[in-house]
Amino acid sequence: MSAQASDRLAPPLIFETGQTGRATRYVERGKPLESFMPAKTLRDDLPLPDNTELDVVRHYTRLSQRTFGIDLGFYPLGSCTMKYNPRINDALANLHEFADLHPFVPDELAQGALQVMHELERSFCSLFGMAAFSLNPAAGAQAELAALLIAKKYFKERGATKRDKVIVPDTAHGTNPASAAMCGFTVVSVKSDARGRVDPAEIRAVLGADTAVCMMTNPNTLGLFEDRIHEIAGAVHEAGGLMYYDGANANALMGNARPGDMGFDLMHLNTHKTFTIPHGGGGAGHGPLGVATHLVEYLPTPYVVRDGECYRLDFNRPKSIGPVRSFWSNFAHAVRALAYLYANGAEGLANVSQYAVLNANYLRVKIAEFLEMPYPEICRHEFVTSAQGLKKKSGVRALDIAKALLDRGFMAPTVYFPLIVPECLMIEPSGTESKETLDEFVAALREIVATAESHPQELFDAPVTTVVGRVDETRAARHPDLRWRPVERRSG
Ligand SMILES: *Cc1c(COP(=O)(O)O)cnc(C)c1O
Repeated sequence: MSAQASDRLAPPLIFETGQTGRATRYVERGKPLESFMPAKTLRDDLPLPDNTELDVVRHYTRLSQRTFGIDLGFYPLGSCTMKYNPRINDALANLHEFADLHPFVPDELAQGALQVMHELERSFCSLFGMAAFSLNPAAGAQAELAALLIAKKYFKERGATKRDKVIVPDTAHGTNPASAAMCGFTVVSVKSDARGRVDPAEIRAVLGADTAVCMMTNPNTLGLFEDRIHEIAGAVHEAGGLMYYDGANANALMGNARPGDMGFDLMHLNTHKTFTIPHGGGGAGHGPLGVATHLVEYLPTPYVVRDGECYRLDFNRPKSIGPVRSFWSNFAHAVRALAYLYANGAEGLANVSQYAVLNANYLRVKIAEFLEMPYPEICRHEFVTSAQGLKKKSGVRALDIAKALLDRGFMAPTVYFPLIVPECLMIEPSGTESKETLDEFVAALREIVATAESHPQELFDAPVTTVVGRVDETRAARHPDLRWRPVERRSG
């Protein structure tokens, strides 16, 4: 889109259009402001925008339409599990009894909320085979950090201070090595084999008295099940290390297989992926951290315990690494996640995974008709395809395909991740999409690939229908322009 066209669509900000005395008040306050606040805290000089209600409604409605979201269309962003977030979860999280609870309220006045946290924790334990979960971390990455702090403390107490290596496969999400490095560990990267899996022999080759933790996800980020996980976990344990499960891919196995049974000692969940918490745009996340029996005492505080019929927050846990997030963390997410768990039940959750796997395989087989599949076998909830062949023929890259999909009303898949697949497109349909939607997506991709061969320039120019066109990503990174400037008001 040309610069002018995007300017045309740029709505003026409400603080540019405000005019003194415009604000609509359908309801008079009745009482003077001083009766709500001490007069000395009230200011006359605060230049808040004064707008009519209609202008404000239009402003926010327009803003909401200038972006793409799961509520607008198919969102096959691999690794992110963008499935439908049932509205009833929000309705429950917004109940005044939950939403208006003060985090300092005494336990006896927060029994319902504590029960929600306890039941969510117990449900996660049985679903994933862990002894306990902390609902404290606010995201997967923060749970990784908390888990590695636990590992550090665990080894220190055993006098094993030389355990300073964290093993990470080359398909890992960037947060894994980043968390390890933040915690002061040295990262050891392990190559995947020709089948796209971690070979136990490769793990054994780097194991030793300096091994602290091996971080893996299963299925891995290629969407493939690590079928030798028992052997790997056995080897790591034999060397005295701990196994960490990155639960971002839990949507592929919940109700069907459990990380605890695979030999993992620590794990996180991203409830904003697997448990239908709305996410995107860096919104509030939630990363419950699960541990096996030998690590329970190290979990962050507070931990919700049940004494008979009562629940309380336990802060008195001498071995704990302490809180990693204030108060009850993102408690509304615990309500949403529990609502989703109870609405589905054990069998329903197993079905959720199976539909996700079915949808992914349906797409994989269809897309294999016109794009390469570097790992052509049955996948779990996601799979990777590559535009490398297309690039050789036409110059069209994975990035161009991603941009062209935006013009056709679809969110782009994850691109260029995992790093080991050149021109990678990582597609995760989730289980909540209909066959019709999947077919439309395949048709759009097929048409894009045909266009690459006939009119590649059209794809280099994409997207042309979105509010913001193709951005110069290098310039955006090197010379970010983050300053807001008022839009020139047209006179007359
Ligand atoms: C999303 C993701 C993470 C990080 O989780 P956040 O909740 O975004 O911090 C880690 N690993 C994988 C594989 C992921 O997809």
